[in-house]
Amino acid sequence: MALINTKEMFKKAYEGGYSIGAFNISNLEQLQGVLEACKEKKSAVIIQASKSAINYAGINTLVALVKAASDEIGVDCALHLDHGPNFEMAKKCIDAGFTSVMIDGSHLDYEENVAITKQVVEYAHKFNVSVEAELGVLAGTEDDVTSDVHKYTDPEQAVDFVNRTGVDSLAIAIGTSHGAFKFKGEAKLRFDILEEIQSKLPGFPIVLHGASAVDQKAVATCNEFGGDIAGAKGVPVEMLRKASSMAVCKINMDTDLRLCMTAALRKFLAENPTVFDPRKYIGAGRDAIQAVVESKIEDVLGSANSL
Ligand SMILES: [Zn+2]
Repeated sequence: MALINTKEMFKKAYEGGYSIGAFNISNLEQLQGVLEACKEKKSAVIIQASKSAINYAGINTLVALVKAASDEIGVDCALHLDHGPNFEMAKKCIDAGFTSVMIDGSHLDYEENVAITKQVVEYAHKFNVSVEAELGVLAGTEDDVTSDVHKYTDPEQAVDFVNRTGVDSLAIAIGTSHGAFKFKGEAKLRFDILEEIQSKLPGFPIVLHGASAVDQKAVATCNEFGGDIAGAKGVPVEMLRKASSMAVCKINMDTDLRLCMTAALRKFLAENPTVFDPRKYIGAGRDAIQAVVESKIEDVLGSANSL
């Protein structure tokens, strides 16, 4: 087994009308839960880590862990930097063995975003590493960047951006948002923008961030067992399935995994007050991650049997 880049998996996903799940991890049990689910469903997968996850786990520890788990469980996967803040961070990940990186220049001026993305692409492609960039701004909080409003991606600008940077995939803003508190009212995604980008850039893989469904059962379980998580609303599953059948080839889901792991740990500890073996309660979290990833593969991504 090996760490692979995203080129082939996106090509197959685009042609097959499905998406690859990109799941954030920062520890062993999250990683095992995701990979076991993908083995069970024979699904391609992207394991991703943000800057804060890398700070938490250590970059070399993370790379070694993902390589070893991919080998041991028997699932090829991409290891991707989520929201790389600058060239130095992207380079550090490429040098450490990541097979894919995101450079997020979406908060910069357009020309600065083009320049920094181009710089990362030139370096990454020397090492056969895929690059994702972002155009448009999602509402919500990701690591230390927060935005209150959506700035939808302009399709004309997307074409210019892809042509000038040589980037391999593009995260766009069509109404999804980061974090557990996505929508005040009904969820609304701008499929018209996605359609226009697809027609102007045929065959080019699009990425959706902030696409957790925010499972109400997981929120309720957290709160039933001592949590205090306010009512949240995520992106409806049908909308994500529709996006996957179009140009969307990668869907990022972080919040749902965090919620289900927290719910499982809270429940286990509350119901087993005498247990103090971490393998027992973190293991319950690992099982919950596996179950939620299997359901994402079936209901949202459509990526079963893509390995
Ligand atoms: Zn994101």
